[in-house]
Amino acid sequence: MYKAPRGTSDILPEEQGYWRYIEDKAVALCRLYGYQRLDTPAFEDVRLFARSIGEGTDIVAKEMYTFKDRSGNTLALRPEGTAPVCRVYVEYGLDNLPQPVKLYYLATIFRYERPQAGRYRQHYQFGFEAIGDADPALDAEVIDMAWQFFLSLGLNQLYLQINSIGCKICRPPYLESLKHYYSAHVADICPDCKARIVRSPLRLLDCKKPSCHDVAEAAPKGTDYLCQGCQTHFEAVQRYLRILELPFEINHRLVRGLDYYTRTVFEIQPPGEGAQSALGGGGRYDNLIEELGGKPTSAIGFAAGMERIVLNLKGQEIPVPSLPRPEIFIAYLGAEAKLEAVKLASALRQDGIAVTMAVGDRSLKAQLRQANSLGSNYVAIIGEEEVKRQAVTLRHMISGEQQVVSPLTLRKLLKKVTRG
Ligand code: AMP
Repeated sequence: MYKAPRGTSDILPEEQGYWRYIEDKAVALCRLYGYQRLDTPAFEDVRLFARSIGEGTDIVAKEMYTFKDRSGNTLALRPEGTAPVCRVYVEYGLDNLPQPVKLYYLATIFRYERPQAGRYRQHYQFGFEAIGDADPALDAEVIDMAWQFFLSLGLNQLYLQINSIGCKICRPPYLESLKHYYSAHVADICPDCKARIVRSPLRLLDCKKPSCHDVAEAAPKGTDYLCQGCQTHFEAVQRYLRILELPFEINHRLVRGLDYYTRTVFEIQPPGEGAQSALGGGGRYDNLIEELGGKPTSAIGFAAGMERIVLNLKGQEIPVPSLPRPEIFIAYLGAEAKLEAVKLASALRQDGIAVTMAVGDRSLKAQLRQANSLGSNYVAIIGEEEVKRQAVTLRHMISGEQQVVSPLTLRKLLKKVTRG
């Protein structure tokens, strides 16, 4: 018996309502804020990710699905969505367009992680990127857009956290001070954190182990080390967020897991859970485009995990619209009736009406049961009597009302009800 690979899931038809709901909200949001859709391949040259996400990060060091193709190229399944968007920006010379260029994606993401609730080896992300401007008003707009996305989904009691992790100038002295501080606390921290002191000191701050919590809380704060430019930028972002009346808080331990971030980082958390469970997050990445071969270009983006959104929609019991059902189910009895049924189904579909027709030789009772479980509004029944009279029995499933009509009348009637 085959099963879906560990850490992956199948989105069965009964789950699809959640997914369409989230996608529809995402697409509507992007229209509102002026973002255009971009689709990129599911795999890229591995160096694109290694270079951008950072060799020392968990994603690159432990989680990428990397493989050689038959021509010997080393490729990786997309472990995040920002680097491919930046590759497109550079490859297609999008710096020639009016800036910032605003793009969004809905894409599968692959990470070899330890599967648990809300953490999978394949997941979907909705993300958006604004590339080509360093204005702090753009940071605020992106944060606002992320916040409005969750509000539009109907999710409640979320937390918005922000931080600044500085730039090329002010981060190195901060990292030195962080290393110095942690070196004095090696006895109190977990083995992973011991390795992080050298490999990725910023990540020391967001270690999820309770034993490391107090040490991280008392660690030097990045915002105390910001250079003048980063300080001014961070203050301006906060000013805009206040104008937008967004309920943000500063979390000094918020650093994000990818190396390319600069200055503003932010996350949106659901109620009552640990930092493991961020619904979405993002930040500025002012050096990435240049590192990928473009001109120096400032940018900021955000991504949200769709599975976690589904979990939270269910947890908060938020109803989602049901998916379209067949307007009419056509049942028949006998070979001649079946021919009429095929003709009627085709004519109705030409009219734009959603039809499901029975197949096989089931009893009328079984066919009606099927119509019921599909949730169609009407059933058309064609039996011997109807064939003789060149008519159809039309039953409204909820009221149970029934009438015998000609196929032509039935088409007119359904056209009228479906057009409202
Ligand atoms: P990241 O690219 O790590 O910033 O993640 C962005 C968002 O994607 C997170 O806030 C989560 O909602 C979601 N996410 C990240 N990793 C996973 C995963 N392994 N499984 C499910 N969702 C994830």
